Amino acid sequence: MLGINMADPGILCYQHCGPKVFCLALSEKCPCCSMSLGSTNMKLPPFRLPYPFVEPRPCSIILKPTEGDFLNDYYNFMDLHIGVTTSTGVIVEYDKDGIRRTYNKGKNSPWAQSLLVDTICDGWMEHWDAVLDETCMQKRWLSDEYQEITHNCYTFVLAFLRNLNYSRLSSAAQSKTLFCEKYICPRTTAAGKYISLYRKIRDNGHYIHPTDKTV
Ligand SMILES: [Zn+2]
Repeated sequence: MLGINMADPGILCYQHCGPKVFCLALSEKCPCCSMSLGSTNMKLPPFRLPYPFVEPRPCSIILKPTEGDFLNDYYNFMDLHIGVTTSTGVIVEYDKDGIRRTYNKGKNSPWAQSLLVDTICDGWMEHWDAVLDETCMQKRWLSDEYQEITHNCYTFVLAFLRNLNYSRLSSAAQSKTLFCEKYICPRTTAAGKYISLYRKIRDNGHYIHPTDKTV
């Protein structure tokens, strides 16, 4: 289901006289050449950048900042928290309080703006729920076992994925580093670009992408 996400700031991109301009709303004049935007032809008409964050969907691995939201509060990988959703969209996470289940509260949920790490095909949903239940029952996920660096939300999700035995997702989950490289980094890098662009626009009104003058 595609719809406009309420938290999407709606970043626009266009080219008037040369460089790419990013903004939240079109101004009357081009910030590069100061000519009116209305009457002249654009090299590239405005289009909206895809918003990288989603509401959690069933049977997925999802990321969010430990505190706050991606657009305003996220700085680096250390700030991330990872969770799993069930086939009915309940969010299951492991933290210092042990296993926690959050029922999706729509846009008020702390997970409302999540980054999707991966999801599975429909035929696997029952198996996914069963393995998730089994994994949650293990004593190693009691709150006493929690260690901030070595036995945390990420350890839990990887253990679940290994138990799941689902193609490449489970083989990458054999190693924290490999999973990070194959699944986490590509997502956070793409999201990081969007976030830094958003913050530049928020702070300056627009952002002009520097171009190589020889091109
Ligand atoms: Zn211009």
